[in-house]
Amino acid sequence: MRQLQGIAVSEGVAVAKAYRLAEPDLSITEREGIEPSAEKQRFHDAIANAKVQLEKIRDYAISMVGEEEAEIFSAHLLVLQDPDFHAAIEGEIAQNTQAEKALQKIAQQFIDLFSQMDNEYMRQRAADIEDVTRRILACLLGKILPDVSQIDEEVVLIAYDLSPSVTAQLNKQYVKGFITTIGGRTSHTAILARTLQIPAVVGVKEAETIAHGEMVLLDGASGQLSINPSEEAQREAKERMAVQAEREKQLQQFVEKESVTADGAHIELAANIGSVQDVDAVLKVGADGVGLFRTEFLYMDSTALPTEEQQFELYKAVLEKMNNKPVVVRTLDIGGDKHLEYWQLPKEENPFLGQRAIRLSLANEEIFVTQLRALLRASQYGNLKIMFPMIATMQELRQAKAILQREHDALASEGIAIGKYEVGIMIEVPSAAILADVLAREVDFFSIGTNDLIQYTFASDRMNEATSYLYEPFHPAIIRLIEQVASSAHKHGIWAGMCGEMAGEELALPVLLALGLDELSMSASAILRTRENLSKLNKKVLQQQVDKLLACESAEQVKDWAKQVYN
Ligand code: PEP
Ligand code: MG
Repeated sequence: MRQLQGIAVSEGVAVAKAYRLAEPDLSITEREGIEPSAEKQRFHDAIANAKVQLEKIRDYAISMVGEEEAEIFSAHLLVLQDPDFHAAIEGEIAQNTQAEKALQKIAQQFIDLFSQMDNEYMRQRAADIEDVTRRILACLLGKILPDVSQIDEEVVLIAYDLSPSVTAQLNKQYVKGFITTIGGRTSHTAILARTLQIPAVVGVKEAETIAHGEMVLLDGASGQLSINPSEEAQREAKERMAVQAEREKQLQQFVEKESVTADGAHIELAANIGSVQDVDAVLKVGADGVGLFRTEFLYMDSTALPTEEQQFELYKAVLEKMNNKPVVVRTLDIGGDKHLEYWQLPKEENPFLGQRAIRLSLANEEIFVTQLRALLRASQYGNLKIMFPMIATMQELRQAKAILQREHDALASEGIAIGKYEVGIMIEVPSAAILADVLAREVDFFSIGTNDLIQYTFASDRMNEATSYLYEPFHPAIIRLIEQVASSAHKHGIWAGMCGEMAGEELALPVLLALGLDELSMSASAILRTRENLSKLNKKVLQQQVDKLLACESAEQVKDWAKQVYN
């Protein structure tokens, strides 16, 4: 058995034979004696051919993933039939250039043009042009592009990269997972994998060493791959897959249901996102909103600080897609373990205790202001809630709010329309939890970030294996802090949620209900099972037992309390 590691992009376990996607050779051989009218005809035949293929793919995608997801192929068809694109290529052909070369040259000009655009949506069109060009070129060369819809046995697909058009054709019945050599969490392919709920690991540099037909065990949650795993490991994985498939089917009934407990208490079940594209998966599970948009990913995916205009387009797109459901956007949270290549920060002895998140924004006001202006301008397109990360004191909160208000007034005086929005803070530094009753007077909401709150409460690095025994969400120290935050919020008439990993933990649900949280934000893939569990729990009964919960002395006792109420 061999172990490989990649980037986990879509949860789930898969075990099946490797299927290497063979890419046809699309290199162009130069031809002499070009006859422009014949070349033009070849080009038009190729377009007609590609159109038939694309229409077939679009219809198949609609039946597999629905109208909205299949829209990408309508975009491809538009590119394919774009008159400017045709005219430019025909112009090249008229200069005695063979059709393949004319196509390549003009397509590259279009790709360059689109990839340099300010608007994220337009930049993504460059990928569409690339995809469509490959198809036309294959038609011109008489080559066949891989047709994954023909796969009729269970496989794990191995490819250098998968284009969106190939990914959307994957039939879940046979393609149990896929592995690519390149890609990242926010690549198109990764997003589609999550939407289709196909386990996937990308960025596996050694993927080429996996031979066609070798057995592969893939874990889409950890990014681990086992090549030729033992019989025992295969059997175990197959059992997990069967349970997984049955469970997924069962949970679909909760997509349209309200997020309520057995005694009718509504708890907002929201999702965490890192990009506009992640919204598709959020809509697919019928989440009640976005509870945490980690905007640092926009900065991390760029090669320079994103401009106000670029950010405005992205925030607007998320708000519009969410169609008036709440969207909590967290302002930039870098520092600690999150870095930007183009913004080198001074080296610190203890980066997690250093100038990260709001501290960095307050110290670099022009960068903060750019983000706030983009958010304020986008506010009229939906239900926006602006959230400041790592607030530790009232002074920091007031300073951040004063800058926000100043920019609000400046935009208003420029005549720019601003919608309604809430302002809240993350509670992830113990001082903020302790001061919750004071801070609650000046915000609209709290969202508890347990990932950081736990590490700062126990003074135990969230990445350090050696002290991980201290990193304990169920510890009474954390339970008491959550209780204090929720009750302080309610005393002042504001809502309190949680967006750290604890919010999506199955065993934490009864605890968080008893403590009175109003909203839980988690990965989209955890929403449906949480909604199902919620429907089985009685909030009133849980709250009657909260004294017992608060009297626990250890994490084990808290877990026992949770297990007993689940039964
Ligand atoms: C948290 O700290 O719980 C949180 C949600 O923020 P992040 O994980 O991005 O630090
Ligand atoms: Mg945090």
